[in-house]
Amino acid sequence: LYVMGIETSCDETAVSIIKNGTEIISNVVASQIESHKRFGGVVPEIASRHHVEQVTVMIEEALHQGNMTITSIDAIAVTEGPGLVGALLIGVNAAKALAFAHNIPLVGVHHIAGHIYANRLITEMKFPLLSLVVSGGHTELVLMKEHGVFEVIGETRDDAAGEAYDKVARQLQLPYPGGPHIDRLAHEGEPTISLPRAWLEPDSFDFSFSGLKSAVINTLHNARQKGEEISPENLAASFQASVVEVLVTKTIKAAKLYNVKQVLLAGGVAANKGLRWELEQAFLDFPDIELIIPPLHLCTDNAAMIAAAGTIRFQQGKRSGLEMNANPGLDLETF
Ligand code: ATP
Ligand code: MG
Ligand code: FE
Repeated sequence: LYVMGIETSCDETAVSIIKNGTEIISNVVASQIESHKRFGGVVPEIASRHHVEQVTVMIEEALHQGNMTITSIDAIAVTEGPGLVGALLIGVNAAKALAFAHNIPLVGVHHIAGHIYANRLITEMKFPLLSLVVSGGHTELVLMKEHGVFEVIGETRDDAAGEAYDKVARQLQLPYPGGPHIDRLAHEGEPTISLPRAWLEPDSFDFSFSGLKSAVINTLHNARQKGEEISPENLAASFQASVVEVLVTKTIKAAKLYNVKQVLLAGGVAANKGLRWELEQAFLDFPDIELIIPPLHLCTDNAAMIAAAGTIRFQQGKRSGLEMNANPGLDLETF
């Protein structure tokens, strides 16, 4: 069973072919970071234009690298949402055109379901499982009792983890996207600056990162007013320590409460070295829970993860018609 995945929700034009839901045949990504960098963030109109230029090139490249023709593809999975509407539309329309022209079944996929299913490319999923989703637009704890069914037990009330990383990086005059730069700096510094941890209500699995972001900004302002030097390395290390401590603590608490067999890390911030390390250390105390951490290229946006989630939906008999539209507000629990 060969499924082609197409992903254009943000600033990566990505196409992948996977076999039987788990084996990557080809996986190509055209990143637009260079075009958005000078604006300090993703410019939606520029993103859409790049996707238009790249999407058919990437489709051909994925087929070429897999040594395949479109006629041997059994289903086309495409990110239906959430994301930038103009960006999503390019992938959705490319997928619909291919499906129509070659009479191939079409399956719409939720981008976050994709991030979670990146884990199925490296291991078998065992239920119940908990996924910690940390990305540019999402920070969620997702409980899964079976394939394709998602229960959000906690989510951010303000900024997403990746968003907080990018905003703090901007304050430190680091290039976009700032997450990897903060990660690198954090490893060169020590968490010497006291910053808040947003635990929220004692039984809540929700997150909040805007207070932490403000605390970082205030620390920088106060130091500047007093003419003091702040070590960017120590500030990055202190910020990262706060983010990681809350993420790891809440993940462990939820994993125990719901008695899960696996914990899957997902989303772009899953590439964070500090988070990966602390999660690994913390789960040493819970040998009955299997911790799965995908390789870096499957954490950030890619289409193999969309094909992986799409394969399950296809096998469950779910199909999208040609009336499928990009849906920037697509809901994970009901899509
Ligand atoms: P979403 O998946 O919520 O729609 P997105 O697709 O834009 O958002 P991803 O591509 O999954 O987000 O992740 C991008 C985010 O990951 C950016 O905010 C980036 O800074 C962050 N990120 C990438 N690498 C690291 C790292 N090593 N440390 C921290 N953050 C990182
Ligand atoms: Mg991106
Ligand atoms: Fe993403």
